[in-house]
Amino acid sequence: EQLAVPGVRALTPYLPGKPVSELERELGLSNIVKLASNENPLGPSPKALDAVRRMLTESHRYPDGSGFELKAALSAKLDVRPEQITLGNGSNDVLELVARAFLSPQSKAVYSEHAFAVYPILTQAVGAKAAVAPAHDGSRGTRYGHDLQAMAQRVDETTRVVFIANPNNPTGTYLTKTELRSFLGDLPDYVVAVVDEAYFEYVEASDYPDCMAWLSDFSNLIVTRTFSKAYGLAGFRVGYAVSSPSIADLLNRVRQPFNVNFPALEAAQAALDDDEHLVRSVNLNRAGLRQLCEAFAERELSFIPSVGNFVTVKITKPAAPVYDALLRQGVIVRPVGNYGLPNHLRVTVGTEEENRIFLDALDRVLAS
Ligand code: PMP
Repeated sequence: EQLAVPGVRALTPYLPGKPVSELERELGLSNIVKLASNENPLGPSPKALDAVRRMLTESHRYPDGSGFELKAALSAKLDVRPEQITLGNGSNDVLELVARAFLSPQSKAVYSEHAFAVYPILTQAVGAKAAVAPAHDGSRGTRYGHDLQAMAQRVDETTRVVFIANPNNPTGTYLTKTELRSFLGDLPDYVVAVVDEAYFEYVEASDYPDCMAWLSDFSNLIVTRTFSKAYGLAGFRVGYAVSSPSIADLLNRVRQPFNVNFPALEAAQAALDDDEHLVRSVNLNRAGLRQLCEAFAERELSFIPSVGNFVTVKITKPAAPVYDALLRQGVIVRPVGNYGLPNHLRVTVGTEEENRIFLDALDRVLAS
């Protein structure tokens, strides 16, 4: 403990969703429903699995350390140049590259209260300071969302990175085109703005920005996305950042040589080609989100309106015992006390049946 650098000593590790196998072992059950990690209930694209199977005989080879083919496919799809793309072992990996390239004990990162838990971890791990802006005050009805004015006020001459999750996890709130663009326009040019779009593919609101189109306007903008959510490849760990070529060059300097493994590269490339699976996933999510929100409304449980593949619901009593009781019913959701929301549970949108099993279990638990 004493040997660790101060930032690391003060760290609380990221708390992942409880694995299905662990609860199966504990309960001696095999029909566990896991709605805890914002995974895709449809699973991976069959095309991605085929591509991986075909490649397994190449397991003795290192992967392509530059990810040439996946970058070419992404470049065509996103209308950016391959030199603008940095691949990561999940988008968490690229977020870490940003922290390592741009933050130091002399500098500061700005992010919001209730923002994605990895931002404080990365910031502390490199010994940088953090300025946490309080969440939105409610004027847009999104009391839990990022307050860009409060964030802008916390930017000073030591700030090097601003982390923005759009939409944010665990609140599911999003920033509109107009507000985000004006915030980016006002940022000093020594600050890198990370817009984390892990849930981009799910968002259907017409005022939601596509920041990829803004890269030529803002030279310090980094947009991150992932194959873990709508593409259903969380287990493979592939994410990416798109930025100016010069930022990508800096990120590449701190990247490990083979940070994305070869089945992951293959799976991601094939998944990009499977629009049908993506559309099915987004459609299932839309229906499931509606199912959950209507059920919460019927039960007079308030929830934070979400545009992602999860929804965070306020429980009428402390959420931790409700989470535990749901586990005993074979349902894994996510307590979000570590996000400053001790009375909420975050539920990933599952299949219609999974959602129903969760709701039935919730009814039993809340009635007891
Ligand atoms: N950003 C946000 C907002 C997330 O919710 C997540 C997943 N929990 C990630 C990034 C990281 O996802 P991955 O590393 O699987 O790409």
